[in-house]
Amino acid sequence: MTSKTKSQTPGAGDIEQLLARRRQFMGSQLYMFYDPPLHLMRSEGVWLYDAKRRVYLDAYNNVPHVGHCHPHVVEAIARQAARLNTNTRYLSDEVLNYAERLTATLPAGLDVAAFVNSGSEAVDLAWRMAKAHTGQHGAIVMEEAYHGWTDAVDALSPAGKAERALAPHVRMLMAPDSYRGPYGPEVADRAMRYASDAERAIESLNAAGLRPAAFIVDPGFCTNGILEPLPGYLALIFEKMRAAGAVCVADEVQTGFGRIGSDMWGFGVHGVTPDIVTMGKPVANGHPLGVVVTRREIMESFMSRTSFFSTFGGNNVACAAGMAVLDVLEREQLQASAQQVGEHLKAGLRALQRKHDLIGDVRGMGLVIGVELVTNRKAKTPASKEAKRVLNLMRDHGVLVGYEGHAANIVKVRPPMPFKIEHADQTVDAMDKALRAL
Ligand code: PMP
Repeated sequence: MTSKTKSQTPGAGDIEQLLARRRQFMGSQLYMFYDPPLHLMRSEGVWLYDAKRRVYLDAYNNVPHVGHCHPHVVEAIARQAARLNTNTRYLSDEVLNYAERLTATLPAGLDVAAFVNSGSEAVDLAWRMAKAHTGQHGAIVMEEAYHGWTDAVDALSPAGKAERALAPHVRMLMAPDSYRGPYGPEVADRAMRYASDAERAIESLNAAGLRPAAFIVDPGFCTNGILEPLPGYLALIFEKMRAAGAVCVADEVQTGFGRIGSDMWGFGVHGVTPDIVTMGKPVANGHPLGVVVTRREIMESFMSRTSFFSTFGGNNVACAAGMAVLDVLEREQLQASAQQVGEHLKAGLRALQRKHDLIGDVRGMGLVIGVELVTNRKAKTPASKEAKRVLNLMRDHGVLVGYEGHAANIVKVRPPMPFKIEHADQTVDAMDKALRAL
């Protein structure tokens, strides 16, 4: 071992030293969770272990969907890596078996799959498909949406860019936020009112000489702070978008694979069927894999007009990992569990709301729940500073959560799927302690 490699061996966690090395080798701007940040060494199921052997309940990460280091997934990856790992320029059983099994979980018509390596790549490809298929070039997304980091997808992601002008081909829709938006639960036809914003967006594109190629939506509205589904809203939007010639894309990077409990896919709860579905994060439990599933005619019109090939996309190991995730989801009945545990968790958080004025709203589906913190319930003043403090205090109590929303005041609970009732109780207890210590 050279002296250079020796210095890279993880130590017992001198955070300052690690931060200095991070600045040196990765630059100083890459954002990190928690202050001080966590130095993680090992994981298993719903548990993460740091360099000081402290154990944390992971109530945040959806990438290790069926649990950190699930032995079935680890074994599938290792077995396939030891046998064959190549690309879709060759015939292979793994990619075909996986494509067949994955598309079988989607509504009829969503029959063909293309494979890439991340959520951003999946949305980028979906956007290219939409433009090729419709011959149109505008895009409509939700305000505060985040769909990824590529140049094209960054333009479709208004999150965190309120000050910056949108790209000329992009329009955003007002989020159907019944807590904070202009139409609350007392407005009976609020789905229609929120949906009417689609006409404005389409007309605004038309005025610029554009028509929408795609409407892209995360069915959990996660970056809007995780919104409770508004019945009828997405169906109305899809109708208007299709009438304008656009295809509708459900970005299932956050909500897919049973997380919302009631459905395998987030769009299911809205009673709509998209034209294109994009998948990332949980697909292969942390092994890089992104997928686009669409209708045959969309795939055909895209492939006949352009070329597409991803070297790593659909490789044998990634597909073996994806297949193993579907095995575990089924065997351990994790979707049903997400429904049951999610309801218990939401009830626990709502009980906390009755105790703590700081909690303005609790909402979500299955195991993706947002707890909106406000300093004044009537004015709904975002409690952004407090949310940050709650995160750090909960970490001190051994539970990891995140935050969401324009004002970063919504505590986000989105754990691995093997999260059980006792883990939900531990999360509520840690939040209670954090709120009491503020
Ligand atoms: N879409 C959504 C809804 C996401 O949440 C994310 C990641 N946060 C992405 C796309 C991009 O995925 P990736 O980071 O794997 O490129």
